[in-house]
Amino acid sequence: MSLTEVAGQLLEGLHAQLPGSGFRLAGIEVQVGRMVDLDPEHLRAMLCSLLPRVEVRVTVVEPLLKCKDCGAEYPHDEHPCPVCGSPNAELVHGGELQIVRAWGETI
Ligand SMILES: [Zn+2]
Repeated sequence: MSLTEVAGQLLEGLHAQLPGSGFRLAGIEVQVGRMVDLDPEHLRAMLCSLLPRVEVRVTVVEPLLKCKDCGAEYPHDEHPCPVCGSPNAELVHGGELQIVRAWGETI
């Protein structure tokens, strides 16, 4: 998916949640997981250009794995599991791509 499409989808979701009128958006916070194949700075620039006069904050979420065998959670760079040595793990953080917060004022 291209950067434009990603930004478009994020904003579509955002507008679906905001009141249609009487509200002026002042800022949004976006979480981007480190494992998402996307440059957070490029995404921020893209959102800024689509949302003039809106503060855009991008937070990068570091990858966290959860061991499927013992349940331990550990950073991605410690793979395989530092507790039991198992290579079976799922990504619990690091795949985020979402607007987590939006703020503004009623007008
Ligand atoms: Zn384990």
